Amino acid sequence: MTDRYQHGSVAANLETVRKRIRDAALRSGRAADTVRLVLVTKTVAAERVREAIAAGQEILGENKVQEGRRKAEALAGEPVRWSMIGHLQSNKVKDVLRFADEVQSLDRLSLATALEKRLQHLGRGLDVLVQVNTSNEASKYGLAEGEVAQFLRELTAFDSLRPRGFMTLARFTADTDEVRRCFRLLRSIRDRALQEAPQGDALAELSMGMSGDFETAIEEGATVVRVGQAVFGARPLPDSYYWPGAVKKEAAC
Ligand SMILES: *Cc1c(COP(=O)(O)O)cnc(C)c1O
Repeated sequence: MTDRYQHGSVAANLETVRKRIRDAALRSGRAADTVRLVLVTKTVAAERVREAIAAGQEILGENKVQEGRRKAEALAGEPVRWSMIGHLQSNKVKDVLRFADEVQSLDRLSLATALEKRLQHLGRGLDVLVQVNTSNEASKYGLAEGEVAQFLRELTAFDSLRPRGFMTLARFTADTDEVRRCFRLLRSIRDRALQEAPQGDALAELSMGMSGDFETAIEEGATVVRVGQAVFGARPLPDSYYWPGAVKKEAAC
């Protein structure tokens, strides 16, 4: 990990990532501006995040609620929006809604219920993505493919939640074909939902791809990529700290 990501300035790395995003979009026959970058700031100090904001970054992502809340407070007044991308416990809903404008990790009805209750109290809505476990790892969060249609029907009961599409973490493996299979699966789930789900056209977003695989994800249709290390350098803690199951690298999709 340590050698894989260059340690240039945050602004220079960000520009490189943006260019790679544009190039991957163009290569896939898509307009250069069809992919949104969520810059993942976990473990990164607010002062370094400020460098990215100064370089024009507007959407930031955090994996853990307490860290996100602290950082958002440190960066209050900056022209940014926060996206929650990590597993969310229902008892953290109040805290997450203090800073996040979007939750990408909606993975169960009890969480939808908790979010809705708090949003009603606050009198606001929330963009959400449905997290799908495309790699079939028991240790990963997210709905199984077969649960998605029913879940989307159930979500219509929650007036404050605005489902916008889907999010996934691909299998952690260097095998690009396996990673691609996860992305393709999410895309096919999205395409079916566009046709059949009650929310229809609203479900266009596909959040997939991180530092190691965001170009592959864009080729497979990603509209949102979540990138941290390619901009900020390698993280000191292993991925298993952030995602359950990340230590298993070799199994098939
Ligand atoms: C940390 C994280 C990312 C970004 O990973 P990088 O390797 O830093 O690009 C993407 N998605 C989720 C859910 C994350 O927790």
